[in-house]
Amino acid sequence: MQDCIFCKISKGEIPCDKIYEDEISLAFLDINPVNLGHALVIPKEHFQNIYDLPENIAAHLIKIAKKIGTALKKIGSDGTNITTNNGEAAGQIIFHSHIHVIPRFINDNLSHWPTKKYKEGEVKKIIEKITQAL
Ligand code: 5GP
Ligand code: ZN
Repeated sequence: MQDCIFCKISKGEIPCDKIYEDEISLAFLDINPVNLGHALVIPKEHFQNIYDLPENIAAHLIKIAKKIGTALKKIGSDGTNITTNNGEAAGQIIFHSHIHVIPRFINDNLSHWPTKKYKEGEVKKIIEKITQAL
């Protein structure tokens, strides 16, 4: 993808603060970290989001995200958020699939997502819809 910033990073055309690299993946620091050490794990090849990723590559990226999360724990994070934003509605800004590995600290005061309550009958309906779509 010509105009994809993560493709350019993957090809070395744009610099990044690299943490890890292998044949399939690259991990580097997010330029605007939620907490220091916030890393992004990307496939070297361009895929738009998790739904376009072949399963073997998705599995590999999760493995590397876990490895980096383990390293972040070793150097002092109390927890991690390992997450992907898929689609504009989910807050995806860079349309080259990536996994965020965000170190978290007790009392780092980052907010939780707001939650909803199910109304009567809604659990049954949504379970039916999801299981039929699987
Ligand atoms: P998302 O698409 O999941 O919302 O997030 C994209 C992430 O990529 C953001 O957290 C943003 O800070 C990060 N980002 C955007 N452009 C660059 C860049 O050029 N270099 C690096 N290292 N991170 C970037
Ligand atoms: Zn790309």
